[in-house]
Amino acid sequence: MYDRYNRNINYLRISVTDRCNLRCTYCMPVSGIKKLSHNEILTYDEIAGFTREAVKHGVTKVRITGGEPLVRKGIVALVEMLSGIAGITDLSMTTNGVLLANYADDLKAAGLHRVNISLDTTNPEKFASITRNGNVANVIEGIFAAKRAGLLPVKINCVIRVSKEEAAAREVAKFCRRNDLEIRYIKQMDLVSGHFSAVDGGTGGDCMLCNRLRLTSNGKLKPCLFSNVEFDIRELGFERAIQLAVELKPQCGTVNNTGEFYNIGG
Ligand code: SAM
Ligand code: SF4
Repeated sequence: MYDRYNRNINYLRISVTDRCNLRCTYCMPVSGIKKLSHNEILTYDEIAGFTREAVKHGVTKVRITGGEPLVRKGIVALVEMLSGIAGITDLSMTTNGVLLANYADDLKAAGLHRVNISLDTTNPEKFASITRNGNVANVIEGIFAAKRAGLLPVKINCVIRVSKEEAAAREVAKFCRRNDLEIRYIKQMDLVSGHFSAVDGGTGGDCMLCNRLRLTSNGKLKPCLFSNVEFDIRELGFERAIQLAVELKPQCGTVNNTGEFYNIGG
């Protein structure tokens, strides 16, 4: 699918839940979030049906994200449903890694190709402070389990404030070199003020190259992370929502007043 700026829209990111087992300071408010109700959240049949439609229209890359995708019950079954869709050449997941050691083998067997794991520091105290009480040892176990399971290449997402020379990011880079992991630095963004930038080592943040659509866990299709434009796939139907999102994808991001990274999936 080409949009009006001649961008080939072939990448769908699906947030499967707004919930998370961590509370990263830059992502979720300290008070937690107003959780979506069960009825609001798309079912796995809806997600798979929508993805099938998107693939018919030219999507080849699919990423499962959240919130934390591994906290949604039955996530392995969803991976199996998606990996059965002919035409997806890249099926990946972004996870905080906390539960990954339990799931890596099952995810691989269900047809997941690879994972991106978020890790901003290898220091246990710093990690607990950024995530408001997470245990970095679980994430590191998850990273090794993903490698052993063959969810390759394992990529590490490292959020930085300003520069990749920050102490925490340098530790993570060292850890990645030692363990043969790819690292991508993501500058901390603020959706509401519209402060965003290119991802170092990735393709995000450059509007002219943006090939993405994002599906929120409650069925809003968003053509741009930094925009309030969205189309309700339940109200409009899958095909119409896709057509509108591609037709009206903004040339460049501005602001997103919801500020809800955890529901859009980053
Ligand atoms: N829970 C999973 C995780 O943390 O990997 C998946 C969802 S999370 C919203 C996806 C990515 O967005 C993570 O790599 C996270 O570090 C990043 N992220 C969250 N809030 C951000 C912010 N304010 N600026 C930049 N990246 C952010
Ligand atoms: Fe959870 Fe990921 Fe947001 Fe951290 S960045 S609070 S792990 S959704």
